[in-house]
Amino acid sequence: MNFLPLIEAKRGGKTLAPEQIQEFICEFTAGKIPDYQMAAMLMAIYFRGLDTAETTALTLAMRDSGDVLKFPKDPRPLVDKHSTGGIGDKVSLPLAPMLACLGFRVPMISGRGLGITGGTLDKLDSIPGFKTLLPAAQIIAQVQKVGCVICGQTDKMIPADKKIYALRDASGTVPSIPLITASILSKKLAESLDVLILDVKFGCAAFMQTKTDARKLARAMVTLGNECGVNTRAILTDMNAPLGRTAGNWLEVKESLACLEPRSSRREEALTEKSEMGDRTSKIKMSLLPSAATLNDLRLLVLACAAHLLVQTHKSKSLAPARKLAEDCLNSGEPRKKWDEMIVAQGADLKAFNRKLALDSTAPVTAELKSGKSGWVSKCDARIVGEVIRDLGGGRLTKESAINYDVGVDQIVKPGERVEKFAVLCRVHATDESQAKNATARLEGAFEISARRPAVARLVHKVILSPRRQGCQD
Ligand code: URA
Repeated sequence: MNFLPLIEAKRGGKTLAPEQIQEFICEFTAGKIPDYQMAAMLMAIYFRGLDTAETTALTLAMRDSGDVLKFPKDPRPLVDKHSTGGIGDKVSLPLAPMLACLGFRVPMISGRGLGITGGTLDKLDSIPGFKTLLPAAQIIAQVQKVGCVICGQTDKMIPADKKIYALRDASGTVPSIPLITASILSKKLAESLDVLILDVKFGCAAFMQTKTDARKLARAMVTLGNECGVNTRAILTDMNAPLGRTAGNWLEVKESLACLEPRSSRREEALTEKSEMGDRTSKIKMSLLPSAATLNDLRLLVLACAAHLLVQTHKSKSLAPARKLAEDCLNSGEPRKKWDEMIVAQGADLKAFNRKLALDSTAPVTAELKSGKSGWVSKCDARIVGEVIRDLGGGRLTKESAINYDVGVDQIVKPGERVEKFAVLCRVHATDESQAKNATARLEGAFEISARRPAVARLVHKVILSPRRQGCQD
């Protein structure tokens, strides 16, 4: 194909036809278009954008560049959640087994971390024996039998995205809404989903730093997901502070298991019933409540994602009963058992896993950071926490970097919580004393303690519904 006129057309702000997009993605995947020409096209798209029809064509062409998972007919809907990533974001781990217990099939194809944001597959790699790379036939068989799988994409799935993402990384064209939309949704569409919930994060440690940009990305993905036949909605969530109380691969697995433990705190349920579902009526009340963080933001977000999926699949009429259903499921203890079933199906050594789970720390050294004064936590900067963990060896500087699964931070206090002088603000898990000392010194800059109780941002800021349903909350 003669690709140059298409690059020139896009550079000049013209609209490309779906067939043209389909053809160049096909040719590029087959190695018939050189990287330098594709990089030029990506830069033209970065500056000129793509309209909805073009983005749809790009997404579908990328999905069809490789294998698409084909599941047998089954009354259980195929659902998934995708997060744009952040610090301490381990929602997928407890959510997948819980959704399986709620009667869904969950083919959760996940990614690895790069830079400061964590990756689900890296967290799972810290489980003894657990395999994240499975052939398509095994992914399908496990979803049918167990109800859920969390694994990486096979070599044959979405090869166009792999090649294009590497070029975007090297050509400064990552932060483009149509390119991000096509990249994320091509992967989700290759799972043949019925329903998708997107967790689009904003804040200092998020891909999209402002709410405005996060909203734009969420709208684009929700529109496109629905155009492509997947019932899609998005929640915008705060990523200024880490999610939960741990960040670091193995520490996050431990916290996910704690999240799966049954519990029945009616007080927590009552306080959060309305506040974290994207329910507008709660705005005024929120200032009177303890922050979402103090009420276990991880659990709240897991329940919120499950509740939205229950509503989207018409298993519940609205969010309040959906959340109750999800909460009852979590408290039944079944998702905890389903977790074991899932990890055993993926090769985990359950005895070794449970032995590891019982350890307070798997890192050689731990060190506590203590508060120099009494007051209210007004800031816990997720970006600083993420950078410290990356530099401890828990994240990647390049795609090739090896990961240390045992390092990280736990016992993190969160904005809105009261601390007394000498209280622990967080605990560092490191490979040696000097690393631990350096990390605690840097983490001091992440926390702010104020004399006054701060107003704490809500965790779920907004719900973005499909264009047909915009204006209503569920
Ligand atoms: N995650 C993806 O998979 N693709 C992007 O372009 C950005 C985030």
